[in-house]
Amino acid sequence: MPSTFTHEFNAPAFKAKVSFNTGLFINGQFVDGSDNTTIDVINPTNGKVITSVSEGTPKDVDLAVDAAHAAFDTAWGLHTPGAQRSILMSKLVALMEKNADELAALEALDNGKTFNWARNIDVAGSIDCIRYYAGWADKITGQVQETTEDKLTYSRHEPIGVVGQIIPWNFPLLMMAWKIGPALACGNTVVLKPSEFTPLTAIRMCHLINEAGFPPGVVNVLTGYGNTTGNAISSHMRIEKVAFTGSTIVGRKIMEAAARSNLKNVTLELGGKSPNIIFDDADIEQAVNWAIFGIFWNHGQTCTAGSRIFVQEGIYDEFFKRFMEKTRSLKIGDPFAPDTFQGPQVSEIQFNRIMSYIESGKAAGAKVEIGGERHGSEGYFIKPTIFTNVDPSMKIVQEEIFGPVCVLIKFKDEEDVIKQANDTLYGLAAAVFTQDLNRALNTAHRLKAGTAWINCVNSFNSNVPFGGFKQSGIGRECGDYALTNYTAVKAVHVNLGHKM
Ligand code: NAD
Repeated sequence: MPSTFTHEFNAPAFKAKVSFNTGLFINGQFVDGSDNTTIDVINPTNGKVITSVSEGTPKDVDLAVDAAHAAFDTAWGLHTPGAQRSILMSKLVALMEKNADELAALEALDNGKTFNWARNIDVAGSIDCIRYYAGWADKITGQVQETTEDKLTYSRHEPIGVVGQIIPWNFPLLMMAWKIGPALACGNTVVLKPSEFTPLTAIRMCHLINEAGFPPGVVNVLTGYGNTTGNAISSHMRIEKVAFTGSTIVGRKIMEAAARSNLKNVTLELGGKSPNIIFDDADIEQAVNWAIFGIFWNHGQTCTAGSRIFVQEGIYDEFFKRFMEKTRSLKIGDPFAPDTFQGPQVSEIQFNRIMSYIESGKAAGAKVEIGGERHGSEGYFIKPTIFTNVDPSMKIVQEEIFGPVCVLIKFKDEEDVIKQANDTLYGLAAAVFTQDLNRALNTAHRLKAGTAWINCVNSFNSNVPFGGFKQSGIGRECGDYALTNYTAVKAVHVNLGHKM
């Protein structure tokens, strides 16, 4: 029998005892992994074990794929009208709303992000995403290409079938919503693997999926490790598509596994090293506030984190002063305390990884203006860190750190900054701050990134496409763009009288 997770939350915003079964979610049931092994889930605030969840194996992936195929062939896919899928998805939305505080609390406990951010961004955004795609479920239509006297040609947008989805730990619930929303709307069935570091909200969502009345096998969720469970998904011969969000290095493995197996369709949402460009004429207070949100929100564990901040020479000194003051004022600590801005990094592995980047920056001669060390004595807290005196060859300038660490770089003019901003193998997002409309648009258009923000950062909407240029990914999530990831287009030619 899978174990039960029980936790007494005693936060100002959420006081409740939460208890639910864990286990692999296969065919609507919570079951043990076939090897009966488990994974410890760690609280990053204190490094202690919260609970253990079942570890999926390749055999469990087979079972989940069987269930997903059976559901696709009988109870979902082309067997359920889009309107019915929409109703079920709307019921899920209502249940997520009802349990929104609990979902946010689980996210804060498991990931270390603050309860407030989790409630207002992760959970609110996930609800919004499923609602948005519930609206699409009865609007997935093809097109008529030709209606002549002797010929009718039309295209059908059919569901692909069983799709695999592999997600990271930085936005566990939101990434699940971005994945299952379009897949279910289009009529696919799902085998999803959350990150081994943050499985709790995905498991809780499975309870809500059952409660909403989805047929068994439409959504299957396997907790497990990447190189076993994840690899079994990306290399499975009966999974027709894999959608992945995570690091560029693992994205490459997903693509290789897909190529080696059945050439399954692949979409990838990968890493970034996003530039944030602040021109002399920017509203400086706003630029500082957004730059803080850009890099330090979610503890820097955001794929679009504005980790390279370019400031034009005319306002550099003033910006630097205010950016330092604001950074100094950020409260680090308990994710459940109402005034906390930054909680712990997600895991000891990430903590060590970020600290080694900080050490490499120091060793290479960059100057730590603030931070550069751990906060407190327990848990995985790192002080917000600002480096200056950097050069483009440094690892801290080139590589994704995925922590609360940024580099501040002074620039001369537009040409200079665009060249530097585009000097990266990533191309996920970029931001520009200026009050000059022409300069804003011109810069936004010349930046090589899938998203360009003007006078804001880290803005995401369910109806706006999101994805990367260069090594930041392949394909787009969100908006109607994501629907194309989950439909197979079939052309039907009808001869109405042409004789051979
Ligand atoms: P990760 O690549 O280590 O892991 C992501 C997922 O892949 C996890 O579920 C993991 O278990 C699984 N995995 C690992 N090895 C695998 C393998 N060989 N085969 C199949 N699956 C495997 O990434 P992470 O550390 O969880 O997340 C951080 C990364 O995610 C960062 O690089 C960040 O930029 C990126 N990210 C990108 C976006 C985006 O939309 N572009 C969004 C969020 C996070």
